[in-house]
Amino acid sequence: MAVEVVEVSPRDGLQNEPEILSTESKVALIQRCVEAGARRIEAVSFVRADRVPQMADAEAVMAAVPRRDDVSYIGLVLNRRGLDRALAAGVDEVNCVVVTTETFSRRNQGASVDEMVRAWSDIARDAHAAGVRVSVTVAAAFGCPFEGDVSPATVGELVRRLTDAEPDEIALADTIGVGVPAQVRQVVAAVRAAAPGVSLRAHFHDTRNTGIANALAAVEAGVTVLDASVGGIGGCPFAPAATGNVATEDLTYALHRSGHPTGLDPRKVIETAAWIGEQLGRTRLPAALGRAGWFPGDPDGRS
Ligand code: MG
Repeated sequence: MAVEVVEVSPRDGLQNEPEILSTESKVALIQRCVEAGARRIEAVSFVRADRVPQMADAEAVMAAVPRRDDVSYIGLVLNRRGLDRALAAGVDEVNCVVVTTETFSRRNQGASVDEMVRAWSDIARDAHAAGVRVSVTVAAAFGCPFEGDVSPATVGELVRRLTDAEPDEIALADTIGVGVPAQVRQVVAAVRAAAPGVSLRAHFHDTRNTGIANALAAVEAGVTVLDASVGGIGGCPFAPAATGNVATEDLTYALHRSGHPTGLDPRKVIETAAWIGEQLGRTRLPAALGRAGWFPGDPDGRS
């Protein structure tokens, strides 16, 4: 079974790194990801530049990315203003974020869960009307930095409400990297029961070394779309010293060696990770493959 890896380093990765790259470097990162085989890329976010200075040049990035029929660029939006900017910039997809818990929602989005569900519904309606794909990420689906445990039932109920706006896909995100594989199976089951037939994507963090195991558990539960970030860049905003997003090359290794082709060229992903590490002034990225290399008996790693 093939698995689609959504490359999130240009947005989720860079947004959570202290270094701010030039527009040219961001475009070069996206170009490299495309050359490595990425076909869906979370490229930019259209949020307030005073709150997220890393994404202030979103329009300039989108104006310069390589345009191909087989590559889809995702822009993150949280309100109507962001959607208008995303549509004007020519994104192929928009992604909105709704948080499972009240405290996290108010701290992170400055809005209650109900308000964000309504904002999502408006965004989805208008994005559909504009003819772009629209997905929603359920953040803190495996635990909250403020409220602790989040039950699978809570995630299922939120997903049920979100599906009223007919998302093309729902992403379940372990925003702070606290989930474990048994929980992944429970959450996926609860979501499938609450919203039968909805397309699922999963977003894991390797903050506590469970990211790859969680990703494989999700695949075994039938999830065929996973987010990842080259080199594992992106950190964790709630654990500043910790690693963050699952690394694309580490995930690719686990998937290819498990019989799940991704279309990615691991050598090019590893090269891209080394390159982005230099751009960010990082001598040691979270990804393990950059240090260990691919399996010796399978030098291509193609699958
Ligand atoms: Mg992330």
